[in-house]
Amino acid sequence: MTKKVLVLGEMREGSLRNVSFEAISAGKQIANGGEVIAVLVGEKIDGQGKEMIQFGADRVLTVEAEKLKHYTSDGYSQALLKIIEQENPEGIVFGHTALGKDLSPKIASKLNIGLISDITAIEEKDGDIVFTRPIFSGKAFEKKKMVESTIFVTIRPNNIEPLSKDETKTGEIQSVSVEIKDLRTIIKEVVKKASEGVDLSEAKVIIAGGRGVKSTEGFEPLQELADVLGGAVGASRGACDADYCDYSLQIGQTGKVVTPDLYIACGISGAIQHLAGMSNSKVIVAINKDPEANIFNVADYGIVGDLFEVVPLLTEEFRRI
Ligand code: FAD
Repeated sequence: MTKKVLVLGEMREGSLRNVSFEAISAGKQIANGGEVIAVLVGEKIDGQGKEMIQFGADRVLTVEAEKLKHYTSDGYSQALLKIIEQENPEGIVFGHTALGKDLSPKIASKLNIGLISDITAIEEKDGDIVFTRPIFSGKAFEKKKMVESTIFVTIRPNNIEPLSKDETKTGEIQSVSVEIKDLRTIIKEVVKKASEGVDLSEAKVIIAGGRGVKSTEGFEPLQELADVLGGAVGASRGACDADYCDYSLQIGQTGKVVTPDLYIACGISGAIQHLAGMSNSKVIVAINKDPEANIFNVADYGIVGDLFEVVPLLTEEFRRI
């Protein structure tokens, strides 16, 4: 059966995040030949609608308002609920990002429907759409199907392949007027951290350092390798607790959950709480002095050695390619 599916596009400083395109791809699978409508919410939306069409959306709805300049669950839910009321979709897809994690339960409860969060795969089985999601911090997977008429899911970034971009594709982009009532939370200013670069949660390559990195300076060779591979630097909580780096880099149960194509763990022992955040990475390389380190149990490739020797060698080799 075909479905009409609504997909939320996420923007950061005017650019669409990759998870938006992955959400369209997920939306297409759920729609089963039906219509996929992308929704963009913000203060000013320009070429992003066209990009959502080029990545596979059939139609785009935009909601622009000054009060939507910054994300608030209050403002965004007003915009989304109006569109849901207008379009009456049978499927809704958000990214399982900080925004999606905050907004999706609010929308689900307002609509009084269920939500399957953090899905990593979608398949069709005996006429049902079945979703896979990690449980017990990634140690197991469960398969779920929605018994309600509206399917609402959030997708884990970097797991569902986006469709390839078709620059010739065109589609309707329609502005929807929504009166945003006074917000209960107003964001006055966003103060950015000095560090820039690849977003950890969307990075295809992550070079992560642990307590074995030994100091803030110890992260420099890791950053060099990340730069050569176009990746981002992450960390264990051990490294954050030791004040070698900022907590925004922490990966794990109480940090970020990441699924890059390549995860290189340097001087990380592989505690269960760290594995919870990275064990679903596609290829894991571990560099550790201790051949008994637990990280080698989840690694596809293990290098027993001193990270301060191994990492610069890798950087040198990758530079040559
Ligand atoms: P260590 O365990 O000290 O390991 C350092 C490793 O570096 C060792 O294996 C050592 O052999 C190796 N090493 C040392 N020098 C070198 C060298 N020169 N070259 C190569 N290898 C070297 N941890 C997280 O990471 N993320 C979380 O989200 C998280 N959440 C937690 C939540 C709770 C409730 C609790 C209780 C703990 C949590 N932890 C988390 C902490 C976790 O249990 C570990 O303490 C932490 O992951 C250890 O960090 P580490 O591997 O960097 O340090």
